[in-house]
Amino acid sequence: MRRVYLDHAATTPLDARVLEAMLPWLKEHFGNASSVHALGRKARFAVEESRERIAGLLGAEPSEIIFTSGGTEADNAALKGLTREGCKGLVTSAVEHEAVLRPAIALRRDGHPVTILPPGPQGCLLPEQVAAALEAGGGLVSCMHANNETGALTDLAALAAVCRARGVLLHTDAVQTAGLMGLNVQTLGVDALSLSAHKFYGPKGVGALYVRGGVDFHPLMEGGAQERRRRAGTENVAALVGMAEALALACHEAADRRAHLVALRDRLVAGLQATLGGTFLLNTPLTAGNAAPHLVNLAFPPQDGQALDGEMLLLNLDLAGICASSGSACTSGAIEPSHVLLALGLPPETAAAALRFSLGKDNTPDEIDYTIDQLTQVVNRMRGRESGRRGL
Ligand code: PLP
Repeated sequence: MRRVYLDHAATTPLDARVLEAMLPWLKEHFGNASSVHALGRKARFAVEESRERIAGLLGAEPSEIIFTSGGTEADNAALKGLTREGCKGLVTSAVEHEAVLRPAIALRRDGHPVTILPPGPQGCLLPEQVAAALEAGGGLVSCMHANNETGALTDLAALAAVCRARGVLLHTDAVQTAGLMGLNVQTLGVDALSLSAHKFYGPKGVGALYVRGGVDFHPLMEGGAQERRRRAGTENVAALVGMAEALALACHEAADRRAHLVALRDRLVAGLQATLGGTFLLNTPLTAGNAAPHLVNLAFPPQDGQALDGEMLLLNLDLAGICASSGSACTSGAIEPSHVLLALGLPPETAAAALRFSLGKDNTPDEIDYTIDQLTQVVNRMRGRESGRRGL
C-alpha cells in the first residue's frame, strides 16, 4: 500500500548519510570517552569534535554545549537548572510543549513564582506581554521558537531585547526549528536553547542544551564528571556524531529545504481550501514570517451541531496510508483535545477534530495531491455519514 509520511514534527527518518557517519562508532570504535586508553581517546575525540561542530553551527563556544538525551531532557535541564535559589521566577506560555509546561508546574509546586501566559492572537508570546509579566519580577523566560502543533513562530530577538533590558535570562525550545531556521544564538539573543536530533533526520534519544557562558547552571543529572559536571552519564558517541552530522547537513541544505517545504505547504493548504474550503479552520498563521515552513494545522468545527471525530479522521487517513497527527505525538493516543488549540480559544469539539500535517524534505507534490484527495474523501464520507444518521 502507498505510504505518505506527514508526521515529521513527531520524528524524521534517519538520513542515510547520518547513519553512515554513525556506523563506525557503533562497531569498531566502541570505547568509553572517559577511558584513558587509545579506544577511549578516539571516542573522546569524536565527542569533542561533535561538540565543536554543533557549537559552530549555533554561533556558540564548544564549552557552552551540554549534550542531553533529547529535547525533553534539554528543556527540563534548562528550567530546573536556571531557576535555583535566588531566581525571581519563571515566565512561560500556555502553548509550550509538555517538556516545558510540566517542569514549570513542578517549579510552581516547589514554591517558585511561575507565570504561564496565554498566547497572542497568532499563537505565540508577544514581547509586550512578556514585558508586562516581568513588571512583577522574573529571572527566566522560556518560550518556544516554533510551536510544534501550529508552527507559529515567536519573534525571539524582540523577546530577547525585553529580557536583556531587565537582566532576565531567555531560554528557547528550538526543537521544531533546528536545521530549518537560522539558529545563531548571538543573533537570536537567547541565553539557553534546546535541540533534539530526531527532528532533523538524526537519531532518537540525543539532544543538546546551549547555555551561555557565565550563566549559573545547576545539573539535572549528577554522577560522573562528564559534560564539565553539568550532565553526568557515559556519552552516546554514535548518537552525538549522528546529531552533529545531521545538523551540519540540515544547516547546509536549510535554504533548499525551506523553499521545498513552503511550496508543499502552500500546495496542501490551497488544495484543501479548493475542496473543503469553509469547513475547516486553519490554525497555522501563514502570513510571511509567522510560521515554520513544515507545519499545517487544521480543525473542523461541528456542522449542524455534529462534531467530527478526530481519532476517526486520523484512522481513516491511516487506512489510506497517510501518517498524520492530531496534535503533538506525546499527547496522541490521549482523547483530550490539544492544550495548544484550547489556549488559542478553539472550542473543545473543534480542537478535538484537528489534524497536524508536518512535512519533510523528501515529500513530493504528488504525495500532497494524494493527501488532498484522500482527506477530502474522508471528510465528505464522515460528514455524509453523520448527515445520513440524522436522516438529512
Ligand atoms: N519540544 C518540542 C517543541 C517538541 O516538539 C518535542 C517533541 O515532540 C520535544 C520538545 C521533546 O523532544 P524529545 O522527543 O527529543 O524528547
